[in-house]
Amino acid sequence: MSQVVTRFAPSPTGYLHIGGARTALFSWAYARNQGGKMLLRIEDTDRERSTEAAVTALIDGLKWLGLDWEGEPISQFARSARHAEVAHELVKKGHAYYCYCSPEELDRMREDARAAGKPPRYNGYWRDRDPSEAPEGVSPVVRIKTPLSGEIVVRDHVQGDVVFKTENLDDFIILRSDGSPTYMHAVVVDDHDMGVTHIIRGDDHLTNAARQIVIYNAMGWTVPEMAHIPLIHGPDGAKLSKRHGALGVEAYRQMGYLPEALRNYLARLGWSHGDDEIFSTEQMVEWFSLEALNKGAARFDFVKLENLNGHY
Ligand code: GLU
Repeated sequence: MSQVVTRFAPSPTGYLHIGGARTALFSWAYARNQGGKMLLRIEDTDRERSTEAAVTALIDGLKWLGLDWEGEPISQFARSARHAEVAHELVKKGHAYYCYCSPEELDRMREDARAAGKPPRYNGYWRDRDPSEAPEGVSPVVRIKTPLSGEIVVRDHVQGDVVFKTENLDDFIILRSDGSPTYMHAVVVDDHDMGVTHIIRGDDHLTNAARQIVIYNAMGWTVPEMAHIPLIHGPDGAKLSKRHGALGVEAYRQMGYLPEALRNYLARLGWSHGDDEIFSTEQMVEWFSLEALNKGAARFDFVKLENLNGHY
């Protein structure tokens, strides 16, 4: 079996939040447990929202938590030419196509679908159309051909087999008209090129996983193993958000929490080892397994974190 390669792939649009830190910790612990490596990929393709300050904050937060990664952080934006190359290759292979629809046409398409009681989706207008019909002076987007029928199964270490009907996934865009890749496409190309064997991330990406598998299949690439972890909820059961209080790792650092305590606490938010509550990082690495990741949403509990901090 090849070496395990995981990755943490944050978008540098703010500080390292608790959810991201937990994802990074699990990806790191799994790689360590397996004698593999974790990569750090900065998903900075959104040029408006990505900042250098956020990249620094992410790296500082990870280092403070004691996490490390193999090699230099990889900039996704720097790989744009490769993303475009794969998109055009997919067109050549007949698995993707250029779409010249204007925003107005797309709006009308969605309206028509709604009026017919169908979900508002792209209707495949350019899927089998001859490119010679293309309007002049319009830069096309590239859309992937999602199979018209059948199922995509996400085989997930946490969620089990999750089945998506392809008729519910439209021919989504992989390359924008300015030549930049969409998130969906860039992630697949990068994970493949970097030899990622295991993707561990929040379950808000589960539907994306189905779309990403469409791209893997079209390229004939092996789909990595996946583990989509339930998001963290606040004490009231709602998804953890700003109103629940401090969310950034940096805030805990400033409040005087110890990295060992936060790491121990984050480990237990969604992963467990019997009834053990306090463990060292070495123990976590030794015990870590994807099978022990919890299926239910974890609840953030400030009192527990406070108590744990007292132990260190
Ligand atoms: N950049 C994405 C995010 O911050 C994660 C992408 C992924 O893990 O596939 O939500």
